[in-house]
Amino acid sequence: MQLVDTHAHLDFDQYDGDRGSVIERCREEMVAVVNSGTNVERNEASLELAEENDFIQATLGFHPTYIKEDKSVDRIEEQIRDNEDRIVGIGEIGLDYHHVQEDKWREEQEEIFIRFLELAEELQLPVVLHTRDAEKRVMEILEGKDVEVILHTFNGSPELAEAAVERGYTIGVSTQVLYSNRVQDIVETVPLDSIVLETDAPFLYQGDRNAPWNVGESAEKISEIKGEGAEDVAKATTENASEIFGLEP
Ligand SMILES: [Zn+2]
Repeated sequence: MQLVDTHAHLDFDQYDGDRGSVIERCREEMVAVVNSGTNVERNEASLELAEENDFIQATLGFHPTYIKEDKSVDRIEEQIRDNEDRIVGIGEIGLDYHHVQEDKWREEQEEIFIRFLELAEELQLPVVLHTRDAEKRVMEILEGKDVEVILHTFNGSPELAEAAVERGYTIGVSTQVLYSNRVQDIVETVPLDSIVLETDAPFLYQGDRNAPWNVGESAEKISEIKGEGAEDVAKATTENASEIFGLEP
């Protein structure tokens, strides 16, 4: 199968014991893996992974759940500008209303989110968005923005997914599709043209450590839901990812 994992964190500690062999298996089984940065150090680590492995691409971002303690937004903007030609997008960025409840911090999340959206417009880079429990607000903020959008691990309502697709956004279907009715409903609603696969590895694999090749299982599951061949699902989602991120297949 031709598979792209459009959202993974192979730099996370969970791979410290065997990162080399995980990456080797990815090299054998995957067309590409997009490693998503979350803070200054993780952005550096993403860049290094991309530098060392031709099939790994990096996006650089600021994770909205770090809002209270991470004050390095200026430095992250610099990282993005300095590496504009080496990265395939800005992310993850966005809003998280699950972990961040207070108005004060939500407002600050929003300011930072808008700042990175404007940077993406300026640099003409796609954005990879974290939207946990804040999908509606994210859609409001995106209105009128001239930017290519991937809603990573989208868990909003199927109706909101439809609205997003109408605007030309792409829905990141994670390995949650293997066990979440909500995500299965979203897959039923959204056309294959608007879906990319992702793991959010090391997370979202029913308690076990996730890994990029598990998107193959997602392709099988999506093929059941949509009544299309798994190979076709893999091929279509890989084409979608390649187009958005400018990957060379
Ligand atoms: Zn993530």
